[in-house]
Amino acid sequence: MSYTKRFDGRKFDEIRKMEAKVGVIPRADGSATFKIGDTIATVAVYGPRSMFPRFLQNPEKGVLRCYYDMISFSVTERKRPGPSRRSTEINLVTEKSLLPVLDLTQFPNTAVDVYIQITQANAGTRCAGICAASLALAHAGIPMKDLVAAISVGKVSDKIIIDLDKKEEDHKEGATDIPLAFTGRGKQISLLQLDGEVTKDELIKAIELGRNGCEEILKVQKKALQDYYKGEIRWMEIILNP
Ligand code: ADP
Repeated sequence: MSYTKRFDGRKFDEIRKMEAKVGVIPRADGSATFKIGDTIATVAVYGPRSMFPRFLQNPEKGVLRCYYDMISFSVTERKRPGPSRRSTEINLVTEKSLLPVLDLTQFPNTAVDVYIQITQANAGTRCAGICAASLALAHAGIPMKDLVAAISVGKVSDKIIIDLDKKEEDHKEGATDIPLAFTGRGKQISLLQLDGEVTKDELIKAIELGRNGCEEILKVQKKALQDYYKGEIRWMEIILNP
């Protein structure tokens, strides 16, 4: 059987409704919230600050440390609190997806700590976390070459679609989930995971879909930064719209 109509009525290339805001946690050095459908990620950035334990210090540049957490009641069935193999994996891929745009050479021996809280989850949480983290790092004033936007694409039954929700990920005919991240202007892939099976042509099609989706996300991210700095800092507009 073919997947002819999406469960929530979206088009196959349609992303869920997005919202983004920066400066949501006053005490943090940088913060942002990114919402996509029912999935909500809030990020607080602290740093650059002295790195402890000291043996982890890098005398050449600051170290990015991401801490992803999905709170217990972010899903309908209570999730066991605390770190897991899944969160360890997501911390790692989040760091890898953000590092290509960051320049931490000005901050030797420091850490930039990025706390990602998923307060509500309906799939796509690692991507929402990356989108929010990228905004929070920009808000913290960390030197960045670009923003990073992320979205999951995939295959449900026989269709290549964007921004799978949980029901689609659990489709009885099988689903392949491909989280992707792209750097804003450079359009370079900084994250590509693949959970399932697709052919080469399907993967190329999925990446194209993800690339277009990330363009849309980038607009929402830029607007969030512009709204925050509206009227205050003109150069932010210049940086974002060169
Ligand atoms: P992502 O959230 O990045 O898509 P996964 O594919 O691992 O990452 O998870 C898909 C979705 O499954 C999550 O967004 C969440 O809705 C749900 N989920 C993940 N872990 C749990 C858990 N321990 N308990 C209940 N639901 C979970």
